[in-house]
Amino acid sequence: MLKLANITVKFGAFEALKNINFEVNEGELVVLLGANGAGKSTIFNTISGLNKVSDGDIQFNSKSVRGQSPDRIVRSGIVQCAEGRKLFPDMSVQENLMMGGFIHRRHKTQLKQSLHEVYELFPILMDKKDDPARSLSGGQQQMLAIGRALMAKPKLIMMDEPSIGLAPLIVEQMFSVIQEINRNGTTVLLAEQNANAALKIANRGYVIENGIVVLQGNSHELFNNDAIRKAYIGA
Ligand code: ATP
Repeated sequence: MLKLANITVKFGAFEALKNINFEVNEGELVVLLGANGAGKSTIFNTISGLNKVSDGDIQFNSKSVRGQSPDRIVRSGIVQCAEGRKLFPDMSVQENLMMGGFIHRRHKTQLKQSLHEVYELFPILMDKKDDPARSLSGGQQQMLAIGRALMAKPKLIMMDEPSIGLAPLIVEQMFSVIQEINRNGTTVLLAEQNANAALKIANRGYVIENGIVVLQGNSHELFNNDAIRKAYIGA
C-alpha cells in the first residue's frame, strides 16, 4: 500500500533521512522504533508532503505521491495524527472532530456516521463533546487527536508516539484502541519509543537510527532481538 524507496531528506547540509526503504501492506499495523531524534517524525512529515524529498520515491497504492501537496495526500487517504496533538484548544471536542472531517464536508450523512463511529470508539469524547479541547486530560486529548484523524476516513493512519506522556494504564487502553482501529480495517503506521507495548500489537517493525533503517522484522523477531531489548525494552 505504502512504499518508500531510497528516500533521502536533507535540511541544508544535514541528511536527516538516508536512503530509507520500507513498506506497509494493506491491513497491516507496522511500527517504526527509534530514540528521540532518530528521524521518525521526519519520515511521517515526508510522507505527508511537509518535507521536500531530495532523492527517492514514495508510492501509495502503486502511484507516486512524491512532491504532492499535503492536502492532496490527505485526499488520497493518508492522514497523520501529530505528536504533541496540535488540537484547537478553544474549540469544543465536537468542533475539533468536525475539522478533521473537513475534506468530506459536503457529505453530511457520511460525516455524521464518522462522528458516531469516533464516539463509539471513545465514549468519553461523547460525554465531553461540548467542552473545549484544552479542558481534556492528556489521554483524552490524545484520543481526540486520533478521533480527529479518523474523521478524514483514512486508508492509512500514521500515529506519532501516541503513548508519550501518558500514565501506564492509559497507555494500555490507547494501544488496545489502536489495535481496534486496525481491526476495523484501517492500516496503521505507528512511531514509538515504547517498543514493549508497540510490538505487542504490531505485525512488523523497522528500527530507525540516525536517519537509517538499521533493522527490520516481524514483531516476534524484534521483541526477541538482544539489541532491541537492551535499547528499548530495558531487559
Ligand atoms: P522525536 O521523537 O524527538 O521527534 P524523531 O525520531 O521523530 O524524534 P525527528 O524529529 O524526525 O526525530 O528528527 C530527526 C533529525 O532531524 C533530528 O536531528 C532533528 O534535529 C532534525 N530535524 C528535524 N526536522 C528538522 C528541520 N525542519 N530542520 C532541521 N533539522 C531538522
